[in-house]
Amino acid sequence: MDAKEVLTKVPTQLFVNGKWVNSSTGKKIPVYNPANDELLVEIQDASPADALSALDAAVAAQDEWAATSPRYRGELLRKAFDLITERKEFFATLMTLEMGKPYAEALGEVAYGAEFLRWFSEEAPRIAGRFGSNPEGTGQIIVAKRPVGPSFLITPWNFPLAMATRKIAPAMAAGCTSIVKPATLTPLTTLAFVDLLREVGVPAGVVNVITSSSASSVSNPIIEDSRLRKLSFTGSTEVGKMLMQKAANGVLRVSMELGGNAPFVVFEDADLDKAVAGALQAKFRNIGQACTAANRFIVHEDVADEFARRISETVAGYKVGDGLAEGVNIGPLIDQDAVAKVGELVEDATKRGAKLLSGGSKIDGAGNFFQPTVVDTVPAGSEILAQEIFGPVVAIQRFKTEDEAVALANSTEYGLVSYVFTEDLNRGMRMIQRLESGMMGLNTGLVSNAAAPFGGVKQSGVGREGSFEGINEYLETKYVLVPNS
Ligand code: NAP
Repeated sequence: MDAKEVLTKVPTQLFVNGKWVNSSTGKKIPVYNPANDELLVEIQDASPADALSALDAAVAAQDEWAATSPRYRGELLRKAFDLITERKEFFATLMTLEMGKPYAEALGEVAYGAEFLRWFSEEAPRIAGRFGSNPEGTGQIIVAKRPVGPSFLITPWNFPLAMATRKIAPAMAAGCTSIVKPATLTPLTTLAFVDLLREVGVPAGVVNVITSSSASSVSNPIIEDSRLRKLSFTGSTEVGKMLMQKAANGVLRVSMELGGNAPFVVFEDADLDKAVAGALQAKFRNIGQACTAANRFIVHEDVADEFARRISETVAGYKVGDGLAEGVNIGPLIDQDAVAKVGELVEDATKRGAKLLSGGSKIDGAGNFFQPTVVDTVPAGSEILAQEIFGPVVAIQRFKTEDEAVALANSTEYGLVSYVFTEDLNRGMRMIQRLESGMMGLNTGLVSNAAAPFGGVKQSGVGREGSFEGINEYLETKYVLVPNS
């Protein structure tokens, strides 16, 4: 689809109470294409007062929305699924323009993001309670589910559609209204998606969107308002911790999907073809900018040379460029800060003695490009092992024993996902027990699925998105006792 045409169709205003409106500041924020630094469009820069108008709209719509039938809410979500699927080229082009991921991956995200609409369209009518006698036999216990209420949904830049639908769909299905704040670097896909919700008939006030150059100045008044009931955040652990502290004042329900530092463990008995294919997927999807990206490759010394060789040879052939161009495997990083950070992490590792097998540098010229890179025998203490790389860099460590592999894998404050490659069933079962992560890919490099509970342990977050668990994040449990008469 033609990029210029896509941009003429994307809304750029704030969406409050069912209408596209300008910010009260009169200010705008530029949105750039990370592949060539060109201005795409300008969006509205909301004020704290605009943020509170969005909360007013969500609060006003809450009771009526909660009273709608689950079937009605499910059917709206299903219509949204159908329409976004029909317009997948539009959404994929827009996503590549603002975020940079290769177009084929953007199409993949449209399919993945849309699945949350379909999944939660099916979950809405299945919200269930319980009924039964108390143990004493003197009364009946009723357990009912109620929507939590107005919810504030904050999303990151790396998956502009899926991170929004993973929150908006369960909130809608549960009967909650919301205010959405997309990332300032990639707001357009969310704005276009919310316009699609308007088009399918989602009532005014049910979903509102604000964009701002100062995330805290629009978020704080919403979080501090006693009418808000829920904060759902996806983003960095640093910002998540701060928001949890703020949410504590109002004892808000919180869901936190935070950073990761995924270990990718390859045992000596692994099927190396599968391990290499999984590694490439787990590392290079989204140009390495995924919370689920494999960050530390922990490879048995008997197979490490072969693993490193095959990975380096493959990535040396990767085409780097604008995600809309034919055959591109690796798009740009989100901005120049990201390029600088990835460069520093590689430099720190090589200074400490890691071997550079491939790539290693930023690419000069327009756009935020970094070469696909492989560093081997990364020494303990290197920054690249402690931080989220968020770039196309494979960092390999070697181990001798299973205990050593487990210790290395768990030596992080994060616990989002781990990947394990082994052909030994018993070893695989032991790894499920021993690795500290909310999710695991056993002989696969891709775990995300709308039907599975996505989320982390340790400092990777609290709560789960997707699956049966996902709707519960937006439901309260209400218990009623009815004495026998
Ligand atoms: P970020 O800097 O934490 O920002 C995330 C969102 O929070 C953005 O909308 C941002 O707005 C907003 N924000 C920043 N400071 C805020 C504040 N003081 N008050 C309220 N909102 C604030 O993260 P990011 O760089 O966009 O995303 C990358 C991070 O997200 C990585 O750590 C990645 O692992 C994590 N992530 C986790 C998951 C998961 O499911 N666990 C999924 C995807 C990404 P602005 O854009 O305006 O700054």
